[in-house]
Amino acid sequence: MINKVYLYDENSSLDFKKIKAFLEKTFEVSVVVKKAKDIVVTNGLLLDVIGTQKKIRDTPGAYAIIVTKRLFATGDGKGRQMHLRSSVFSYPSVISLSGIVEAPAKPREYYLAKQSLSGSGLWEPEEARLKQKLKGRFIDYNDKRLLEVVKGLAAQAMFFYLRGEPFCKSKSCRLYNAHWQEDLIYSQVKSGKFCLKHNRLLSKITGRAK
Ligand SMILES: [Zn+2]
Repeated sequence: MINKVYLYDENSSLDFKKIKAFLEKTFEVSVVVKKAKDIVVTNGLLLDVIGTQKKIRDTPGAYAIIVTKRLFATGDGKGRQMHLRSSVFSYPSVISLSGIVEAPAKPREYYLAKQSLSGSGLWEPEEARLKQKLKGRFIDYNDKRLLEVVKGLAAQAMFFYLRGEPFCKSKSCRLYNAHWQEDLIYSQVKSGKFCLKHNRLLSKITGRAK
């Protein structure tokens, strides 16, 4: 029932063997890792899904998940508002490492300090201090925890593909749609599991359930 999944690595410098192994074990699907360059197409900051799809030629009938360093946003359809995104689920699905860092909100005290110190010359030293202090509460560039977050977002992409619904309401499930960095760390790193409902669904999808 599940076709092949192509996992594209666009300059990510992550250990893709681990992401592949996670998806293969979880979904019992065959995953092929491919190195890619310039396949994620953006129009300014806006992600162009159709343009990106056109760059993937050799995967007829298969599902593609791209992991990229590139930061992108999606619009509200009227061109007024843009939102940075950690992932977009479509054909293909695209996961952004920079988006994981920039899209979910950091703890409030980070923004409060930034707002009050911006332009004073004091923000830079304070930012370094705050980042150290809030380390457990948000993901930064080159963070080791990025790998776990990508696994979870890739699982969401798989659920989108297989069931049409990538998300779960439970914070301790890898399918939780986190808007805050702290929640993201909770669901993908501290919990790092699927909830009971989604574990059951996985058994059904893979045929493990009798
Ligand atoms: Zn769940």
